[in-house]
Amino acid sequence: MTEFTHDAPPGRVVFAAGALARVADEAERLGMTRVLLIAGASRAGPADIVKQGLGARLAGVIGETAMHVPVEMADAARATVRELGADGIVTIGGGSTTGLAKAIALDIEIPILAVPTTYAGSEMTPIWGLTEAGEKRTGRDPRVLPKTVVYDPELTTGLPLAIAGPSGMNSIAHGVEALYAPNANPVTSMLAERGIRAMAEGLRAIARDASDIDGRATALLGAYLGGASLATAAMGLHHKLCHVLGGTFDLPHAETHTVILPHATAFNRAAAPDAMARIAAALGAEDAARGLHDLAAELGAPLSLAAIGMPEDGLDRAARAATASPYANPAPVDLAGVRALLHDAYAGRPPR
Ligand code: NAD
Repeated sequence: MTEFTHDAPPGRVVFAAGALARVADEAERLGMTRVLLIAGASRAGPADIVKQGLGARLAGVIGETAMHVPVEMADAARATVRELGADGIVTIGGGSTTGLAKAIALDIEIPILAVPTTYAGSEMTPIWGLTEAGEKRTGRDPRVLPKTVVYDPELTTGLPLAIAGPSGMNSIAHGVEALYAPNANPVTSMLAERGIRAMAEGLRAIARDASDIDGRATALLGAYLGGASLATAAMGLHHKLCHVLGGTFDLPHAETHTVILPHATAFNRAAAPDAMARIAAALGAEDAARGLHDLAAELGAPLSLAAIGMPEDGLDRAARAATASPYANPAPVDLAGVRALLHDAYAGRPPR
């Protein structure tokens, strides 16, 4: 018998093609009367629809977001909320957009309604991130968890494979680490495994036909489940490395996950056999690490740190930073092992 405690995070999810049209009603349901809309310039079309729906309830708009949420940007956004007297935030965008709203909610108690347009999955987690002077800090706080998430697969049909592929691999990384987390339980493992399966299936469908709305919906469901599995699961070596590489070397988030994931999975192969079997089965592969590498290759996603801007002379610094303090991981984390992992990932070698 498996005994466990599962603290399911609260939240309402609306999942439908065309659900963008319901955002204003959902905002009203949350009692929002002065809404700050955060939507990057590339999301102007959907933002216009939401602005129209909100009408006089729209208090202001932030159009600029950045990966890993620089503290200066978070401070400016908090000042904007105070100036506007906003009582709710609606986001339309990827993890960077959701991340800025979370940074605000960490400081000011305010509900978030998130409309994700990538597969980052941040909208389902109480995890925030802030970057200051080249260092990324992350933490968990229930106040930053969006109260309502509106998933509309139609918003993702324009997401090119070059962004969708790595973004989906980022989501799969959530499931991978959730499956071998020390606090994994049957619920989080089910979410994680089902999320990996849906994402792999969805990404393959999108690679065949970018306009396949069923494939888009499957991938978006994968993003939801992957984020939900990460919401309560502890993160291990994979996420640690990605935070170090993103925060210190400003590498692109989703692409970094894509490159590191097969190697971090291989690092943990012998120490987490049950998780490996479930990951491999979800991918339709014989080996989890090799299956992740092959999926990334199939999608034309980057396979080496060199290709995404990592300076070779930074590898040792990254290895030291990722091993400086202890954290849970199935295989013991040692400097030599992590250094070897990073050199493999830098060169784009297949996982060991
Ligand atoms: P992103 O939000 O920066 O978006 C990537 C690019 O895609 C941007 O240029 C954006 O304009 C564009 N884009 C977004 N939606 C689009 C669409 N539908 N069509 C075309 N282009 C579109 O990147 P991301 O990978 O979504 O998020 C990365 C950030 O999210 C990082 O800062 C990461 O730390 C954070 N994150 C947090 C969590 C969490 O649980 N806290 C989880 C995953 C990621």
